[in-house]
Amino acid sequence: MSRKIVVIGGGIVGVSTAYFLSHHHSKPSVTLIEASSIAAGASGKAGGLLALDWHGSDTASLARLSYELHASLADKHSGRERWGYRELNTVEISCQAGKTRNGRPTGVPNWVNPDTVLKVGSLGTPRTTAQIHPRRFCEALIQECKDLEIIIAHARKVLLSGDKSAIGVETEVNGEVKIIEADTVVVAAGPWTTKLLPNVPISTQRAHSITVQTAEPASPHALFTSIRTENGNVVTPEIYPRVDEIYACGDLDTNAPLPKLAREVQVDEERCREIKENVGLISDLLKEGVVTCMQACYLPYSEIGPGPSIGWVPGMKNVAVAAGHSCWGICNGPGTGKVMSELVCEDKISSAKVETLDPSRYTQ
Ligand SMILES: Cc1cc2nc3c(=O)[nH]c(=O)nc-3n(C[C@H](O)[C@H](O)[C@H](O)COP(=O)(O)OP(=O)(O)OC[C@H]3O[C@@H](n4cnc5c(N)ncnc54)[C@H](O)[C@@H]3O)c2cc1C
Repeated sequence: MSRKIVVIGGGIVGVSTAYFLSHHHSKPSVTLIEASSIAAGASGKAGGLLALDWHGSDTASLARLSYELHASLADKHSGRERWGYRELNTVEISCQAGKTRNGRPTGVPNWVNPDTVLKVGSLGTPRTTAQIHPRRFCEALIQECKDLEIIIAHARKVLLSGDKSAIGVETEVNGEVKIIEADTVVVAAGPWTTKLLPNVPISTQRAHSITVQTAEPASPHALFTSIRTENGNVVTPEIYPRVDEIYACGDLDTNAPLPKLAREVQVDEERCREIKENVGLISDLLKEGVVTCMQACYLPYSEIGPGPSIGWVPGMKNVAVAAGHSCWGICNGPGTGKVMSELVCEDKISSAKVETLDPSRYTQ
């Protein structure tokens, strides 16, 4: 009899898990439950940078697998056109607002005002860094799932039998409660994971970002900046040019509690205006560009490092978790989906070494 698997969460981790489960040769029945809409949280509002070899020993193998999967998924499903997959240079740049030098130091993209640059260094080449548009990736991958059932509802509880085996998920839409039966549940609810699994502690902080329409496209250089402003403050926005816009994000903020639903996340427009002002200090293209989106989302991270929690949940049977990917969830999403499909369908992860990410570390 085929397995009945429910995945909770339609961010990049849940979507990738649903994709690889739905393509698994054992042909399980797969349902994805999402409370708002696909990629409503950080997975729709992240930068989308992918890095091959920037990761610590606990996630290095997962990141390598995921980097390869990003490339092969793009080949298989026309990702260059559909979700803007492309290789790019990544640059670290220190700048000072106002004129500091003459000439253009080597390695500075032509859309950065050269006279503001103090120091520049390469962090990645098109062989080691790439990018995607994360929301478009999630929306396209959902379309490529085989026979996936999608339910838009808030998952309130993972239901367990007397011996703590998964038997389903209690959901709610507009006050109406419904039980979705399952023999296996995967919780991939990003920063909301702990609300469903109190013994998997995932913390979170809000971050703002903007997209900017510019007069001409910027060259494919991701920028990690450190900018000394005119009043002496140092700000560190990250800037990711895409095919048809430029994305920039600012610092994390600590004083905004996580709302119940991703669609209820509050945007502080003042923070978005600050990002625009700061990136405009080093680029006339960005200064003169028009902000097309102001947004905020919550970064999920494991309270006890290292890396995300990936594995069976201790004290439960047939309940798995994949959450807490911190600033590398877009990069490591497909790899996580692949290893979750192996765990759930084969009870053995073979594509990557993720033993140290097992959630049993919380109970030790
Ligand atoms: C500003 C910023 C920039 C970033 N840039 C990058 C980057 O360039 N590269 C990179 O690799 N990573 C980046 N990240 C990190 C990345 O965005 C996250 O690690 C990743 O999106 C997490 O994905 P997720 O699927 O675990 O969680 P989420 O994207 O938060 O998805 C969780 C989903 O679960 C749903 N959900 C939650 N609870 C329930 C429930 N009870 N019932 C039903 N559905 C539920 C939510 O609605 C949501 O859609 C960035 C993060 C931020 C904040």
